Amino acid sequence: MAFQPVMNLVSGELEGYEALARWSHPDLGDVPPDVFIPLAEQLGLIGDVGLHMLESSYTQARQLQARLGRRMALAVNISPLHATDPKLLRAARRLIGAHPDIQLVLELTELALVGDDQATARALDLLVEAGAQLAVDDFGTGYSSISYLNRLPVSVLKIDRSFTCDLTDTRTLPLVQGVIAMAQAMGLQVIAEGIEDAATLTTLRHLGCHSGQGFLFSRPLPLSACLDALAAPEPKRSGSVRLVV
Ligand code: C2E
Ligand code: CA
Ligand code: CA
Repeated sequence: MAFQPVMNLVSGELEGYEALARWSHPDLGDVPPDVFIPLAEQLGLIGDVGLHMLESSYTQARQLQARLGRRMALAVNISPLHATDPKLLRAARRLIGAHPDIQLVLELTELALVGDDQATARALDLLVEAGAQLAVDDFGTGYSSISYLNRLPVSVLKIDRSFTCDLTDTRTLPLVQGVIAMAQAMGLQVIAEGIEDAATLTTLRHLGCHSGQGFLFSRPLPLSACLDALAAPEPKRSGSVRLVV
C-alpha cells in the first residue's frame, strides 16, 4: 500500500491521504494497479482487494492520524462492482465507528454507469448514512452523463489529471474553471489530481480550487516515509515540499 497526501491549497495544511494499492510480485516485479485492478475485477476478486485495502489502510492510517494529532481524511478507491457488497458496508460501519478522527472518503470512478442502478444507488446511500463521504474519481473522463451528481450522495469531486496537466491550454482552462464553479455551486469539495508544478498550483488556487494532490507535494509513499515526513520539521510536513502560499 502507498499513501499520497491530499493538501489544502489555500492553507498549505495536510487534509489527509489517498490509499493506493501496490503489488510487488517476486518474478514480475512491481505490477501497476492499472493492470492488476482490472484483472481483479475480471476474476471476481475486486471485493477481496477492496476489503483488504479498506481494513489495512485504516490500520496504517491510524498511525498517521496519531502522529498528525488531528482529524484527517482517508480516501480509499472502491470499484463500483464492489459497492453493493454487504461486507463493505459492515466493514465501513465498524471502522468509521471505531475511528472518529478519520473521515473515510470512498472514491469511485464511472458513477455515470451506476446512476440508474437502484441497488448501487441504495448501497451508496447506506455507506453515506454510515458516515463515509463519496468522491467522484477521475471527473471529466469516461462517460459523459453528469446527472448522477443530482441522484447520488456525492460530496467530493476529483478533477482528473488529464485536465490539470494542461491548464495552459486555452480550452482546458475555462473547462476546469467551469467544473470548479459548478462543484462549488453544488456545495461539493473539489480536489485537483496530478499537480506537478508550481504554475499549475497557482492557476488552480486562482480558480478557487481548495484541495489537491500530486507529485509537487509528494508521490504516493509507503507508510514509513509518510510517518517520517510528518515527524520532520515544518518545511517537510506536507510530504516532500512545503507550499509557498
Ligand atoms: P487514481 O485513483 O486516479 O489514483 C491516482 C493515480 O495518479 C495514482 O496512480 C498516482 O500515483 C498517480 N498520481 C498522483 N499524483 C500524480 C502526479 O502528480 N502526476 C502523475 N502523472 N500521476 C500522479 P496509481 O497508484 O498507479 O493508481 C492508478 C489507478 O489504479 C488509480 O487511479 C485507481 O483508479 C486504481 N487503484 C489504485 N489503488 C486502487 C485500489 O485500492 N482499489 C481500486 N479499486 N482501484 C485502485
Ligand atoms: Ca482515486
Ligand atoms: Ca483519479
